[in-house]
Amino acid sequence: TPMIETEKLYKTYQLGEVAVEVLKDINLTIHQGEFVTIMGPSGSGKSTLLYLVGGLDQPTAGTIRLGGTLLSGLSDKEQSIMRRRQVGFVFQFYNLVPNLTVEDNILLPLLLDGKKVKPHRERLENIMETVELSDRKDHTPRELSGGQQQRVAIARALMNDPEVILADEPTGNLDSRTTEEVMLLLSKINREQGKTIVQVSHSVETAAYGNRIIQVKDGKVWDENEGND
Ligand code: ADP
Ligand code: ADP
Repeated sequence: TPMIETEKLYKTYQLGEVAVEVLKDINLTIHQGEFVTIMGPSGSGKSTLLYLVGGLDQPTAGTIRLGGTLLSGLSDKEQSIMRRRQVGFVFQFYNLVPNLTVEDNILLPLLLDGKKVKPHRERLENIMETVELSDRKDHTPRELSGGQQQRVAIARALMNDPEVILADEPTGNLDSRTTEEVMLLLSKINREQGKTIVQVSHSVETAAYGNRIIQVKDGKVWDENEGND
């Protein structure tokens, strides 16, 4: 089943007088359970595509469906709820809240959603076990290594049990050993929990953990397996 569908998707940034057409007529389908890597030159629109798909940014034209729901048909408030429940975001620089503990960082999407922690306690414990950070739950991010911080971010992304994980260069700030650790974790989450994962990456090594590569170039998308989009 299609998890992410874009149709005639355009994104143009207006820089003063100049219109920069970043994405042009993107028609893309990503199915449930896929682990997709978006690759392409710097500035080609990889992050833009990821953020559009996750509802963090609005397209100039065209439509995006997430789990069958048309994003443009939703109000701002509905979009924000959709984002929190259906999508977990992972960023290159982790985006953790520095003065919150590991546990509270992981609980953040739940707390922002106004949910009570108690009914989700067991889920929290399971997630902390999955990312192997149970013994670090009372630490703050600055007490952790980069790889551990990214594992907290991945745990946070899982907290609302979303269908989709969107990761913007999740290992861009990590050394090769830690990169492997984080990629194995994402791969495990994809295989064992069936989460659809879309990552932006520069590296062929990290793309190898996924099962499909999409190239963004000159505003277009090229599917490595099928040739053209
Ligand atoms: P990538 O992730 O492939 O490096 P981005 O999606 O970040 O590329 O950016 C694609 C293009 O859009 C770049 O030329 C960038 O400068 C431009 N761009 C990105 N975000 C904005 C913005 N908020 N305002 C104006 N231009 C932007
Ligand atoms: P607001 O809409 O009030 O600005 P945000 O949605 O930006 O709040 O969330 C605030 C913090 O919580 C951010 O640091 C963000 O990374 C994190 N967060 C919220 N929802 C998610 C999610 N679904 N996955 C990962 N992190 C999230």
